[in-house]
Parts: sequence; C-alpha cells; structure tokens
Amino acid sequence: MSAVAETVFSKILRREIPAHIVYEDELVLAFRDINPQAPVHILVIPKQPIPQLSAATEADQALLGHWLLTARRIAAEQGLEGYRIVINNGAEGGQTVFHLHLHILGGRAMGWPPG
Ligand code: AMP
Repeated sequence: MSAVAETVFSKILRREIPAHIVYEDELVLAFRDINPQAPVHILVIPKQPIPQLSAATEADQALLGHWLLTARRIAAEQGLEGYRIVINNGAEGGQTVFHLHLHILGGRAMGWPPG
C-alpha cells in the first residue's frame, strides 16, 4: 500500500485531469491555481509525493532547495518583483491538498498579517 494518499495533484501529475501548466522539469511541476487569490497564483509541487512540509526529511534537502529556487525563477518569468510564497502545513495551517505545494501569489499588494 502506498504511504501517500492519492490527491488531485497526483492526477494532474499523471495528466488525468487538466491543469494550466507553466513549468515542468524532472523534479517539479508548476500550474495555475484553479481558484486564484491574486492575479498571479501558481502552485509548485515536487513530483515526489511528500504529503506536507512537516513530513519532509533531510534526504529531501536538495529537492526542497530546487523547489524554492524554481518558485523564484517562475516568479521572475511571470514578471513579478514583489510576491508572496505560501506553504500551508496541515489542516490547522490551512492545507487542503496533502501533496506538498507552495503558492506563488503576486500581481497585487499583499496585506499582513494573513487572516
Ligand atoms: P492548500 O489550501 O494550501 O492545500 O492549497 C490547495 C490549493 O489547490 C488551493 O488554492 C486550491 O484552489 C488548489 N486546487 C485544488 N484543486 C485544483 C486543481 N484541480 N487545479 C489547480 N488548483 C487546484
């Protein structure tokens, strides 16, 4: 049995459901959020199905570095100077899809603190 639950992002990775993909390499996939919270709202996921940040380990260090640097690259390609990167961890942290992902949010001014 797989240790990681099937998610909507697994289906996007397997091209079983459509997504507006903006970047892909051997380690990560990036696509537009279906319910955008800003003019630019892109999700970046590792292809490896880590369920959430707190489940990552030292063995994932290179992958997580690549993931974050890829987010930086995509933000630049989107023409964003100021932007917000969000990682919701666990239900209390607002996570709803349990395949690790970060949000790139940009194109409008961001308030702080978040609600
Ligand atoms: P989180 O609340 O951090 O787990 O974020 C999950 C995000 O996935 C939400 O912003 C959703 O709008 C987004 N989402 C859910 N289903 C899809 C989908 N099929 N394609 C693109 N984004 C999705």
